[in-house]
Amino acid sequence: MSKTEFQEYICRPFCDFYKPGVKEELLCRGALLLERLVRQGRLNPQEFHSLLQDIPLPPVTAATLEAVVCAACPFQAEDCDFRAPHPPEDARPCGGLLLLGGLLRSGWIALKDLEEAKD
Ligand code: SF4
Repeated sequence: MSKTEFQEYICRPFCDFYKPGVKEELLCRGALLLERLVRQGRLNPQEFHSLLQDIPLPPVTAATLEAVVCAACPFQAEDCDFRAPHPPEDARPCGGLLLLGGLLRSGWIALKDLEEAKD
């Protein structure tokens, strides 16, 4: 699956930081793991819109999600306000992390699925 293809169903509709027409050299870890799960046939992108609800994850799950996904993300060090040492109050995660949170909340995936999808 090409980068352009999954940008259309992950980044463009769900990520506040997506810039149409700007060629990013790096790919955020959240989007990468989602793309792997789709490629494995475990997720259907057509159903992603039903996942975004404004319900927080349990703190332990949220912390584990961030540790598993963000720790290996190339944007974490400098470009991601959400994961900055002192994040602004209104900092939001990328669309990939939002979607993965929705998948965990809905029970479509478990944390172990993310562990398995890692390199
Ligand atoms: S929230 Fe930030 S560090 Fe975490 S996956 Fe998204 S872009 Fe990367």
